Amino acid sequence: MLSNELKNITPSYTIGISSKVAELQEKGLNICNLSIGEPDFNVPTKAKDIAIDAFNNNKTKYNNVSGLNELKNEVIKKFKFENNVDYDLDEIVISSGAKHAITNTLISILNPGDEVLVPKPYWVSYPEMIKLCSGLPVFVDTDKKNNFKVTVSDIKKYMTSKTKMLFISNPSNPTGAIYTKEELEGIVDICTKNNIYILADEIYEKISYEDDFVSIASLSNEAKNITITINGFSKSAAMTGMRVGYSASNKSIAKGISTVQGHLVSHPSTISQWCAYGALKYCSDDIDDMVKIYKQKRDLAIDLLSNINSIDYIYPKGAFYIFIDISNFKSKLDYKDSFSVEFCDKLLSNNNVAAVPGVAFGMDDYIRISYACSEETLVKGIKGIKEFVNSLL
Ligand code: PMP
Ligand code: GLU
Repeated sequence: MLSNELKNITPSYTIGISSKVAELQEKGLNICNLSIGEPDFNVPTKAKDIAIDAFNNNKTKYNNVSGLNELKNEVIKKFKFENNVDYDLDEIVISSGAKHAITNTLISILNPGDEVLVPKPYWVSYPEMIKLCSGLPVFVDTDKKNNFKVTVSDIKKYMTSKTKMLFISNPSNPTGAIYTKEELEGIVDICTKNNIYILADEIYEKISYEDDFVSIASLSNEAKNITITINGFSKSAAMTGMRVGYSASNKSIAKGISTVQGHLVSHPSTISQWCAYGALKYCSDDIDDMVKIYKQKRDLAIDLLSNINSIDYIYPKGAFYIFIDISNFKSKLDYKDSFSVEFCDKLLSNNNVAAVPGVAFGMDDYIRISYACSEETLVKGIKGIKEFVNSLL
């Protein structure tokens, strides 16, 4: 018999779709995969070299639960010089990916029944993670006119005495929207006044195209004290399979996170941590080059999408996704449960293009595409979307 908790959990759509694509590709089908957010780059050479050296020098034993000091010190330098916020060594915990950093945080903070505000659209795993850690996700409606960024008045509508935490994905997965400093200041103010922690998922920090990213913890001492910043290497350094992420929080939360981690996994792989150390210390030029290419692909994708009159989208300022409004086609498809799932199924079977249904992000009138793929795949994929929607008209 499986647990009751599991009954309420939906498997990850993003991971599920990419497995389906892999199966179809194995059967010889040529699929344009615009679904999973996985960089089309390899780990930068210098980061790989550091990991290989670590292996050759037998740096393969157990180490600190909260992560290698060398890596934590690089993370501290990043926060200081790039975000203008100071952390001590015992406020940083390195985990096996940002997913793991988030779940460690939730286990450390939530009590059964605590409410967690999750602005819609949300990244697919947030609600399921919260439920698995005995919390209650409370979905916050946001306004398309504000690019679906949550506002203070949205928060006020859903806040109760049980609200323990607010999730912010900035730059946002799935919309690519980026919060301004003023927007974040308002959010920090209401959260400070109401004892609400902020889980600031900043994993797409580096992938912002207009130099306007602000890390929430940098806003003030109060902001730093209530914020758990999540970041990692999967996106910025194309290290998805290496599984390294981290959290930065106040000392008592960091101690909790470290205690949880110590029992569940001891610490992330030492070789992967050395690789992350190499990425932070030596690879900023490689990362800048990747971001330049993402920006070119963003511009190309927007150019192609703006030629499809029947759809609309949120203009992305960061991350590598485009959230596309497909509501014009709602009456054109027969569907039982989810319109966006039906749309994506048909898009895949008729035109060999994989996208993620918006229902995965809590909004069934949308689909999400990723432009972290090759340019060829992107161009072919958007052409396939155009042909598909034209066939529905
Ligand atoms: N947060 C967001 C918003 C993401 O898109 C992802 C997907 N990778 C993660 C966290 C998890 O990243 P990781 O691979 O480091 O676990
Ligand atoms: N975060 C990426 C996405 O949203 C990768 C998949 C996942 O980790 O769920 O597509």
